[in-house]
Amino acid sequence: MALRSGGAGLNPVLNYIDGQFVEAQSGTKFATINPATGTIIAQVARSNGDDVEAATQAAIKASKAWAATSLEQRVAWLNTIADALEAKSEAIAHLESLDTGKPISLARRVDANRSVSNFRFFASMGADDEVPIFSANGAINHVHRTPVGCVGLITPWNLPLYLLTWKVAPALLMGNTIVAKPSELTPLTAHLLAQTLDELEFPKGVFNLVHGYGPEVGQAIVEHPSIGGISFTGGTSTGKIVAATAAPMFKKLSLELGGKNATILLDDAPLESIMDDVVRASFTNSGQVCLCGSRILVHESIYEKFIDSFTAKVSALNVGDPMDETTQMGSVISMDHRNKVEAYIKLGLEEGGKILTGGTSSDAPVANMPEDGAFLRPTVFANLSTSSRTATEEIFGPVVTVHSFATDEEAIAMANATDYGLAGSVWTADIERGHAFAREIESGIVWVNTWLNRDLRTPFGGVKQSGVGREGGRWSMDFFSELTNICIRQP
Ligand code: NDP
Repeated sequence: MALRSGGAGLNPVLNYIDGQFVEAQSGTKFATINPATGTIIAQVARSNGDDVEAATQAAIKASKAWAATSLEQRVAWLNTIADALEAKSEAIAHLESLDTGKPISLARRVDANRSVSNFRFFASMGADDEVPIFSANGAINHVHRTPVGCVGLITPWNLPLYLLTWKVAPALLMGNTIVAKPSELTPLTAHLLAQTLDELEFPKGVFNLVHGYGPEVGQAIVEHPSIGGISFTGGTSTGKIVAATAAPMFKKLSLELGGKNATILLDDAPLESIMDDVVRASFTNSGQVCLCGSRILVHESIYEKFIDSFTAKVSALNVGDPMDETTQMGSVISMDHRNKVEAYIKLGLEEGGKILTGGTSSDAPVANMPEDGAFLRPTVFANLSTSSRTATEEIFGPVVTVHSFATDEEAIAMANATDYGLAGSVWTADIERGHAFAREIESGIVWVNTWLNRDLRTPFGGVKQSGVGREGGRWSMDFFSELTNICIRQP
């Protein structure tokens, strides 16, 4: 089937190694599917360790020349790439929507925009980077950044180009060469990035892209002895495998993993004005954002009012065709994932939960959608214990559980009763109370009276099983560089 690519002509999806688009060495392919229709969009190179080896050799060969470019030259490249991607914003949004089933409006607003701004942002970080100098004991210490070398970038399917460029931009800025692997479920926009770099005549071998399955390609990247750093975003169970493989080799490792985030409404939360934000925090991208609040903790004094208003708003969400401009929620990423989410909905019922709206695709079907489309209505559970599996395990779909609490201490204990610690939000009329409360949450990010409000200069990452390390701003630059201190004694 021809790919509806917005004119970008992306079929077939090949590896990009040493500045060439190439088939997998094995000659095998797999299909990428539009989850909203179940139809094949494109055939994709199914790579293995041989392709990773070729990509790594190309990256090593290109390393010296790329590392020798000046920071100013690399900043200029990032701005050039940003301009070229911006010119393709509509194609990016279209492809992302096709590949993931997310609404085109969301793909434009979030995925396409952020993919461009990641390059612009790191270009500005590079332009402003100051090398610290410390003087003491008659000596001056100069801190230099040197590239890690060749780095491996492994990304998930929920925000494909957004998360890939979040790593590619700082890695290039710091003078590294790259072997990247997108999720096999969403290869299209990574391919578009490779095409864009090719059109720009970006130096060959600096950015290499290898498509395929995690255990066949991702694992080979993590295992490769010449790849000095791995930046991985994905699930916690995969993160454990990546960590176990990379740690004995002393690779630099950044792990951005899963979450089970709490949205906490204190007794003074102004319900009417915040309700749209709470719905957004729950169901953006069908709940498939690592930062989504999938556990909503509400003070008992406002619980009934919250439930009525929240359920009404969630029931009214427009779920359907991702290409329809009015759609608010599209499909989930795949039929397999829909099955996984539905298994959790059934588990929630077995655990004593009450569904306030939504349910499985047979109990709460989405009208007029293709039979093979992976659609689900947003589901809200009440009556579940905060220690139930439904309320503690990452579902990563359009399912939230709502719980009531009596005191702030109880809410803090509930929020922290999870193995994860990625993000959370607190809603209150009293900013100081919100600030104090936020400091008690075991989490990398806590928003007060806002959600997914991102300043790219801030540290991003999780605690507990949500990850190790921070990316964002100078933390990304630190990850993608080695700091060498040169101490010079005054003669
Ligand atoms: P996975 O962990 O399944 O996959 C992530 C990436 O790792 C994919 O490219 C995957 O390839 C690859 N992979 C799989 N096995 C291996 C392996 N053995 N070695 C190396 N790489 C491997 O995550 P999902 O794609 O399902 O994404 C959803 C998860 O990502 C959720 O848990 C979500 O919370 C998390 N996430 C975290 C974010 C954060 O910033 N903390 C942001 C976004 C998502 P393949 O697809 O081919 O299996």
